[in-house]
Amino acid sequence: MELTGLERFSLNEQQKILAAYQVAKKQHEGQIRKSGEPYFVHPVAVAQILIDCGEDVDTVIAGLLHDTLEDTNMTFNELVMLFGISVARIVDGVTKLPKVKELNKQELELGTIRKFMIHYLKDIRVIKVKFADRLHNMRTLEFMSPKKQFLKAEETLEVYAPLAFKIGAYRIKEELEDLSLKYLEPQDYATAFSERELMIQTKREMLNEMMRKIHQDLFHQNILCTPKIKIKNVYGIYKFLKQNSQLVNMDDLLSIKLILESIRDCYPTLGVVNQRFRSKNCIQDFISNPKPNGYQSLHAPVFAPDGSQVHIRIRTEEMDKIATYGITSSMYQNNPFYKEQLFSFIESIDEEYLNNQDFWRKAKQELFGDNVYVYTSKGEIRVLPKGATVVDFAYLIHTGLGNSMVSAIVNNELVLPSYVLQNSDQVEIISNSNTMGHGLDWLNYANTTVAKREIRKLNRAV
Ligand code: MN
Repeated sequence: MELTGLERFSLNEQQKILAAYQVAKKQHEGQIRKSGEPYFVHPVAVAQILIDCGEDVDTVIAGLLHDTLEDTNMTFNELVMLFGISVARIVDGVTKLPKVKELNKQELELGTIRKFMIHYLKDIRVIKVKFADRLHNMRTLEFMSPKKQFLKAEETLEVYAPLAFKIGAYRIKEELEDLSLKYLEPQDYATAFSERELMIQTKREMLNEMMRKIHQDLFHQNILCTPKIKIKNVYGIYKFLKQNSQLVNMDDLLSIKLILESIRDCYPTLGVVNQRFRSKNCIQDFISNPKPNGYQSLHAPVFAPDGSQVHIRIRTEEMDKIATYGITSSMYQNNPFYKEQLFSFIESIDEEYLNNQDFWRKAKQELFGDNVYVYTSKGEIRVLPKGATVVDFAYLIHTGLGNSMVSAIVNNELVLPSYVLQNSDQVEIISNSNTMGHGLDWLNYANTTVAKREIRKLNRAV
């Protein structure tokens, strides 16, 4: 059992990681996994996933020690002394609430999820460790009882896959979905899996040929590129097949990723692609307009020689890494946009709802419910839960803007505060800093917890 890929860390960091390795080994000594292997195999695998995802030294160390507070006699203070407060907080963040007699099992689970959520909000590295932990547990789920398999797979599909999507960790999301489906609907999984294999077999040669041509064209323009084929995951195909009898006209089924050395090469590459293939005329530019989960790429759907649709995705290596493993902790810490867009609502819900059941119901709604995507007057994308109004939009942008809002213009037309946002709306908030604020009647126009809380606050202050 060895960790690989440590070279990218400084010598000092490598030493710390190895020290944590020894501590974890000692702490879990004698414990056995359901598979019959020593328990220590698990934290090592989790740390390895985190190393492969490019996470920082504290996250990797937390990965090695992530089960010590829960399953060994290690204490929080010992962790602080040995590896610092940051590691200790991450480990604490992924540790379940202790069992207490007064709470039933469901209350305990909901309480634990609530605790996790609040830690995610503070430090996104907690969620990365949780994903690595869940990923390894799902990969080794075969050793669990059928009942446990079902429960874990269900929870993964309900909570962790959508969370991975939320922070833009597409590859983790896809693997979690596929592993869950395998245990939840083994028959359907097998069908979708073989449909996918068949698709790969029939299309591979054509896709390779397309990649060769693009590569050649780019080479003539002195642009170096690494092309990669990407096929929709099994779960995506399963969902499509549930509504359609055949895998035809499925959007996003076949993609070619073009990974470039620099952002400067991205737009000329788009030109080259459009010259070579008939484009579908719906190019999307997520480079100048990143998605709220940090995703960046140029999307150019084109017609392949056999008439099928192929999505060409043009991006740099850095963008590809973010699209694979999600937004980085430094992006999250340093850019207020991500914090506001991703998890700020958790804070308001936490203040608003004492009961864990209410908290989770509301959190699920805001996290995983349907969203609408709208644009600011500057053309930046914002995401709100479906049913959100222009008032919710104003408060999402800034509390001050919400409080001083007088009206709103959507797609160049004046609208009422009760206007419900539709996808692709372009929204401009008209504000007046001399306004006295709104009365509690504006609560009727607000649907998000953040907006409601601010309107109540405003009326308390007056
Ligand atoms: Mn674990």
